[in-house]
Amino acid sequence: MSKVVCVLYDDPVTGYPKKYARDDLPKLTHYPDGQSLPTPQGIDFKPGALLGSVSGELGLRKFLESRGHKLVVTSDKDGPKSRLAKEIVDAEILISQPFWPAYATADLIGKAPKLKLIVTAGIGSDHTDLQAAMNRGITVAEVTYCNSISVSEHVVMMILSLVRNYIPSHDWVVKGGWNIADCVERSYDVEGMNVGTVAAGRIGLAVLRRMKPFDVKLHYTDRHRLPESVEQELGLTFHQSVESMVRVCDVVTINCPLHPETEGMFNDALIAKMKRGAYIVNTARGKICDRDAIVRALKSGQLAGYAGDVWFPQPPPRNHPWRTMPHEGMTPHISGSSLSAQSRYAAGTREILECYFDRRPIRSEYLIVDRGQLAGTGKHSYSAGNATRGSEEAAKFKAAPASAPAAKKKPKARKKKTR
Ligand code: NAD
Repeated sequence: MSKVVCVLYDDPVTGYPKKYARDDLPKLTHYPDGQSLPTPQGIDFKPGALLGSVSGELGLRKFLESRGHKLVVTSDKDGPKSRLAKEIVDAEILISQPFWPAYATADLIGKAPKLKLIVTAGIGSDHTDLQAAMNRGITVAEVTYCNSISVSEHVVMMILSLVRNYIPSHDWVVKGGWNIADCVERSYDVEGMNVGTVAAGRIGLAVLRRMKPFDVKLHYTDRHRLPESVEQELGLTFHQSVESMVRVCDVVTINCPLHPETEGMFNDALIAKMKRGAYIVNTARGKICDRDAIVRALKSGQLAGYAGDVWFPQPPPRNHPWRTMPHEGMTPHISGSSLSAQSRYAAGTREILECYFDRRPIRSEYLIVDRGQLAGTGKHSYSAGNATRGSEEAAKFKAAPASAPAAKKKPKARKKKTR
């Protein structure tokens, strides 16, 4: 019998959904590069259901219990008194999603002598101290590609909404106004702009492909160069360094993993090299940008806008400055957790668990750390080390004083299920 601890975000404040906006999901079989979608032996959920919250349980309970394993699901993840801290002591497997990450720091891993597998139900395993996992021989796996296209769609949405000044214009409608000049004084066309991505992996390349029809000039930098045929097809300009790329771009989108090389990459010095009035869209990881440098650049006008869905830590404190900084288009971390993506990463998580229990190899593209070293996608896209420092700040979300600045619209809290 194995104990599986699964950390998931809370149910909706209105309760777990009884019905959905749509009846089905498009049927996909392969990702754009030909990689197959997850192939578990079965699933116990209806695609399109909310699986990422505590009552959704990633559709895993029936499967795990039928094999005699114990599943503990909780959203209580931060601080030494959390349910995660209590349950991890005899757990063999830890599962969480980057949207509501279980920070598997060296300290947490140290409290879990039986821990053998950490699964990211999604993409991006920086919430695990990869160095600590390597040192302990713990396997770290994620569901590569499950939400890369979901994120690329979100990036395009955020680029357009920043450049065209969508959110402030929408706010004028809600306020009862018809303030065209107020809306358009910061509104531009994307056409003709220079748009660059930091990293052209699964998400970065999908963003480039989706931006191409907007008749923009496309740029990228990555530690792996794309095939020449792809560069030609999309008319890409490759830059050896991020400094070279940001100098010429009107829009920069960040699509690399967080690891020691990318942590704090967008600091005051790099932002100063950007064109005045450039936009940043970051759906990769909050910590790739220096929190306060972004705020300073928006206030000074060096940046015209910043949008993204990733923060550090997660959840961020209620007084995190990105909630209230000017010209922001922030959302909570949602781009990779659409209902469409959830069905893929729930199935992929089950595939990883089936392989683990049946002693079959986990797909190499799902591996980040294996046998004490970076492996598979981990070897391709990460550098060894630890990027979890400071994650204990996530406990402040719960502890925030009532006077902390609240979200603009506060939904009524009722029926929320937290465990
Ligand atoms: P991927 O592995 O396909 O691509 C990552 C790319 O980053 C690779 O091409 C790699 O060479 C490049 N890279 C690594 N270090 C770099 C560096 N220092 N400079 C430039 N390029 C570098 O992964 P992906 O599917 O494209 O996802 C990328 C990241 O996006 C994830 O690691 C995760 O952090 C984030 N992500 C966010 C969400 C979300 O919901 N917001 C969802 C999925 C992924």
